[in-house]
Amino acid sequence: MTLTPQARNQYETSLLQRQRELEQGLTHTVKQALESAPEEAQDIGDQAVFSYQKEMLFTQGTRHHVQLSQVRKALQRIADGSFGLCLHCSSPIDSKRLQALPWTSSCIECQERIEKGEGKGDISDIRNANAGA
Ligand SMILES: [Zn+2]
Repeated sequence: MTLTPQARNQYETSLLQRQRELEQGLTHTVKQALESAPEEAQDIGDQAVFSYQKEMLFTQGTRHHVQLSQVRKALQRIADGSFGLCLHCSSPIDSKRLQALPWTSSCIECQERIEKGEGKGDISDIRNANAGA
């Protein structure tokens, strides 16, 4: 892997920034959920709107949470030097992909395979096969 110190810094900076944004976003989402709690009696229409909003906020919060843990793992990989390598096949991840999604842990091929739902069970086999090469 040929990650220059400059590139490494760049990814680290954008990951740290993203981490901060997500942390703030999570706090904001929780606050919003609390503040949107109704104080007065509502009619059924209001209740429906409220539970819909609550569900939206919850979904948003969950998504933030998932990405936050991806960002943290990527920062860990920067620290241990494995950043930029696909977690599944150990190939270097395309730098354009890394710039767009610095928290990604898989190359585009593996990502597509995972999204298609194929080969979920054979990821470790692939890694083993590559480790010997
Ligand atoms: Zn891969």
